[in-house]
Amino acid sequence: MNFDLSNDNIQVKKMARNFAEKEILPYVKYYENQRMFPKDILKKMGEAGMFGACFPEQYGGSEMGFMNLAIIAEEISRAHPAFGYAFNMQAMTCPFTILNWGTEEQIRKYVPDLIRADLIGMFALTESGGGSDPAGSMKTTAQLVGDEYVINGSKVWITFANEADVGVLFAKTDTESGHKGISAFIIETNRPGFKAKPIEISSLGYMMRSCEVFFEDYRIPRDMLLGKEGEGFKIAMNALDYGRLTVPARLVGISQGCLDESLKYCKEREVSGNQIGEYQMIKRLIADMVVETDAARLQTYRSAFLKDKGEVATRESSYSKYFASEVATKVTRSALEIFGAIGISDEYPIMKYVNYANMLHFGEGSANIQRILIANDALGWKNANRHHIKRRFSLNSDLVLS
Ligand SMILES: Cc1cc2nc3c(=O)[nH]c(=O)nc-3n(C[C@H](O)[C@H](O)[C@H](O)COP(=O)(O)OP(=O)(O)OC[C@H]3O[C@@H](n4cnc5c(N)ncnc54)[C@H](O)[C@@H]3O)c2cc1C
Repeated sequence: MNFDLSNDNIQVKKMARNFAEKEILPYVKYYENQRMFPKDILKKMGEAGMFGACFPEQYGGSEMGFMNLAIIAEEISRAHPAFGYAFNMQAMTCPFTILNWGTEEQIRKYVPDLIRADLIGMFALTESGGGSDPAGSMKTTAQLVGDEYVINGSKVWITFANEADVGVLFAKTDTESGHKGISAFIIETNRPGFKAKPIEISSLGYMMRSCEVFFEDYRIPRDMLLGKEGEGFKIAMNALDYGRLTVPARLVGISQGCLDESLKYCKEREVSGNQIGEYQMIKRLIADMVVETDAARLQTYRSAFLKDKGEVATRESSYSKYFASEVATKVTRSALEIFGAIGISDEYPIMKYVNYANMLHFGEGSANIQRILIANDALGWKNANRHHIKRRFSLNSDLVLS
């Protein structure tokens, strides 16, 4: 067992940190003040191969692998957690789902442009009836009329929907058959009947938004079905399985960012004539932050390592999503304690980390849902959400499994 990053991983980490410092941080205030989507920055990330890390070269991918993707997502989120969103929409849930389940024609039409961020993607699963039970709460329908699907319904919390060109959408083609009645579709947002309304979330900022999405007699050709009719739930769970690589990596980045800020502050802030880092109770906070961030990172890297070997890492991804979210909420809370009053001001980025850590606690399956999956797995009980679907492409080789 080797716990060292390879030279390649170290170079990628340096590249991502350098990119974040030069190409992201100096421009964030501008985009945030203008409430402007930072598409130019996302395009630069795409050009640098960040979103294409797990995609074969034949579709424009950079074939850097899951470990490097986790390292990049961590570094970018450490610098600014809002940019972590882009890894789910441009590198995982949207294009990777098309790569895994699409026809050759669908893959060629959408994937290269999505991973370059020439097209912006979204992943529309959650509905207002409860994100933790997507099958039970799904009311959106897709009815086949002639050669077109006619889609009616609404989704909520859909990230980038107000900017997206393309998305993966889940809707019921059969309302009588529970989760087996769900199908997946590729959608284009420039067709009539699609509307996205950003949700006001001041704590997460305004340059990258999540939206309510409405479909009113929205029509797409039959060949935009993704996979087969009735496979939608399996496709959604498989997509979340991959999303559970970048989300823990983003959470580790948030923890590390908070830790780095806290270490600086412990040496710079003096109270009662001492640097606050000299106080034992502060040292206790720091020790827990260091060790727990390291443990969350190791779990995340393990699931990336398994994915790079082409293995199913559902269990390990669930562990790391659960653990990294618990760690990030604790680390960000500890950072607030270290900073005292100034931690809640805009002078330091602590609240930004706190808010994103709390948000990611729910995304890609809440902590409670992970607990249920992990406990059922440990008890040897069948997990309804556990789908052992190997990925369809391995890097540097041809089609392997579908
Ligand atoms: C900023 C943001 C961006 C998002 N982006 C997207 C996106 O792009 N696409 C998308 O499809 N979705 C997106 N989501 C939705 C996200 O995936 C859901 O928030 C998540 O699935 C949880 O669903 P919910 O918020 O409806 O919580 P609920 O399902 O209402 O759950 C509420 C609470 O009850 C608990 N709970 C629920 N069921 C159980 C149970 N059986 N046992 C124990 N506890 C339970 C949950 O853990 C949670 O703590 C986003 C959410 C946010 C906040």
